Amino acid sequence: MFVFHHIAEMQEYALRAKRAGTRIGLVPTMGFLHEGHLSLIDIAKARTDAVVVSIFVNPIQFGKNEDLDRYPRDFERDCALCRERGAAVIFAPEPGEMYPADFSTKVEETELSGPLCGRSRPGHFGGVTTVVAKLFNLALPDVAVFGQKDAQQALVIRRMARDLNFPVEIVTAPLVRDADGLALSSRNKYLSPDERRRALVLSRSLAAAVPALRSAGVEAAPAIAAAIRHELEKAADRVDYVEMLDADTLLAPTASTREVLAALAAFFGNTRLIDNVLIRLDEGKE
Ligand code: AMP
Repeated sequence: MFVFHHIAEMQEYALRAKRAGTRIGLVPTMGFLHEGHLSLIDIAKARTDAVVVSIFVNPIQFGKNEDLDRYPRDFERDCALCRERGAAVIFAPEPGEMYPADFSTKVEETELSGPLCGRSRPGHFGGVTTVVAKLFNLALPDVAVFGQKDAQQALVIRRMARDLNFPVEIVTAPLVRDADGLALSSRNKYLSPDERRRALVLSRSLAAAVPALRSAGVEAAPAIAAAIRHELEKAADRVDYVEMLDADTLLAPTASTREVLAALAAFFGNTRLIDNVLIRLDEGKE
């Protein structure tokens, strides 16, 4: 496994691999890897010849009062996990090389980035699309894998890749949970035992929303979202949002909606956690 810290090394590897007919898979991450990230590597590996895992805590996707400075890191452990999982390359550039002092270009998606996390984290998705566009140009992937854990991010990137004609297939990987239901996240490390126990309300209330929406129908989406919010308010320190939206458009669901994204964000202590579930409305019907 190669470990590249410089853009030139990454680009040279990718160009050479492409010329040799190697199919490249890209898994962008911010490191502190867990089984969720590793499942993305497995998916990329099954579809391509060489998997590049990028490990980069992208400063421009963090807001001023967010956790950039204390974001958990363990590069040695990440390297060992990637090697074990059969990655071909780790690309871990320095922020100063990715964003020189006079960096002045931004890639922004302007529709799907609006609601949910876009509302509470202004500028976040612009930071994500900018870094992912750079990573696409650096790693030249045939396939890039993103997790359903960040459902809105996956939609935004899929739209960006289509709109800007990046020749890359975007794959969305299933959300990986701990045995007790908590969605795996690098940020779970911040949680005290009490916060972690209280955070189980996220997956529990989403799981309850699935049969509720299927039996009551799409008109009941606002009432079900309100019921989830009520549950969260009892256990979380602050509820950011609870929404049920059309899973393709991120607009309010309508009679023609086939799949609903139930998505939420809440704080436990200072830690902001997100979770979501996709609810197919025609499930079980012919
Ligand atoms: P992050 O390091 O948090 O930026 O995540 C890097 C990639 O891993 C993103 O595409 C995430 O959606 C994905 N990811 C993070 N946690 C999970 C999870 N629990 N299950 C599936 N994918 C995940």
